[in-house]
Amino acid sequence: MGYIILSIPVFFLLIGAELLWSAWTHRKVYTFPDLIANIGCGIGSQVVGAFTKAAIFGVYLWTYDHLRVFTLPANVLIWVITFLLVDLGYYWFHRLSHEVNFLWAAHIVHHQSEEYNLSVALRQSWWQGLFSFWFYLPIAVLGVHPVVILTVGALNTLYQFWIHTRAIGRMGWLEHVFNTPSHHRVHHGSDPKYLDRNHAGSLIIWDKLFGTFQPEEEEPVYGITTPLRSWDPVWANFHYWADLVALARRCTALGDKVRVFLKPPGWRPADLGGRERPKEHDRTNYLKYSTDAGANARRYVLVQFFLLLAVTSLFLFKQDSLPIWGAWVLAGIIVLWVMGLGLVLEGRRGALTLEAVRVLLFTGAGIAVWMSVLGWSWWCAVIIFLGAASMIHLTALSGEGEVAGQ
Ligand SMILES: [Zn+2]
Ligand SMILES: [Zn+2]
Repeated sequence: MGYIILSIPVFFLLIGAELLWSAWTHRKVYTFPDLIANIGCGIGSQVVGAFTKAAIFGVYLWTYDHLRVFTLPANVLIWVITFLLVDLGYYWFHRLSHEVNFLWAAHIVHHQSEEYNLSVALRQSWWQGLFSFWFYLPIAVLGVHPVVILTVGALNTLYQFWIHTRAIGRMGWLEHVFNTPSHHRVHHGSDPKYLDRNHAGSLIIWDKLFGTFQPEEEEPVYGITTPLRSWDPVWANFHYWADLVALARRCTALGDKVRVFLKPPGWRPADLGGRERPKEHDRTNYLKYSTDAGANARRYVLVQFFLLLAVTSLFLFKQDSLPIWGAWVLAGIIVLWVMGLGLVLEGRRGALTLEAVRVLLFTGAGIAVWMSVLGWSWWCAVIIFLGAASMIHLTALSGEGEVAGQ
């Protein structure tokens, strides 16, 4: 069982504490749709990860078995050295994810939120895991066992949770060595001077060593230079790929069509106007993306969101006992689910129809999966009740015409 999955209750407790802090201090650091979209991205990345992690572990084991130069013991010294090497690997993976378009297409998801709070830490790309693990493979070649590398990698990811907050200012001498909330706020800034700075995982020393360090001066404007303007986690994970393919199609030279994917974000061939430079924000007029789908739609999303958390937890904890088809079907429904909630929050036309289809699929597939694993039980009746209640809630919403589209 992954350390990340086991930490999820702690993440939610700390998000709750930060929400209390924000209410106490009257600093509005959360918006409801952004929170749902961030956690929706996190849910999707865990679900996609459930399918890819076995293959990734297999590549590590194969590399360790066939290519290792030494056989290193798992003592304290090796754990410490592995930690430093993983953190260094993370720095370069993360830096290149900001400097190479096809890597940025995956990593961009983590940067789309225009807020900065603990839920942004959970806003993770669905495909990043497939690009990042290559950067740690040399540690397996060196002779560190994959279990040590992956455990240290998970700890490095966990470390980065608490730094996504505006509740903590500067931290004295710790700022010299560790990645802190102040350093990482800079990393999430879209102001030109903050772009592509502070790529550190746990230790800020790598940015200072390789010349990408920028201390926090005025508070950053958070997000990406061209805002996503959507609460849909599926679009969040694909929109930049769509942009890159569209740009490649407009290029006339074949070399440029390939270069689009390897050059930094903002790159254009000379015949399409050359590189686009990021602009300064006008802070007095800057408007974050916001929508108002109405109180009833928000209530519907909140109820469905808690149900989604329960279904996702079941999926993650029971994935090994699910039949393959059941895992795929449940994963597909979870993806539709995060997308549906995003579209309802956007007040999109068709969102309620998509939700109705999703609720029907959830009810039917939920019963089929449950019966194939555990046989008929009163839980099947609970699933039918939840499906029916969701459908009644949806019908009431569509009757109001509240989510009529924009
Ligand atoms: Zn980044
Ligand atoms: Zn971050």
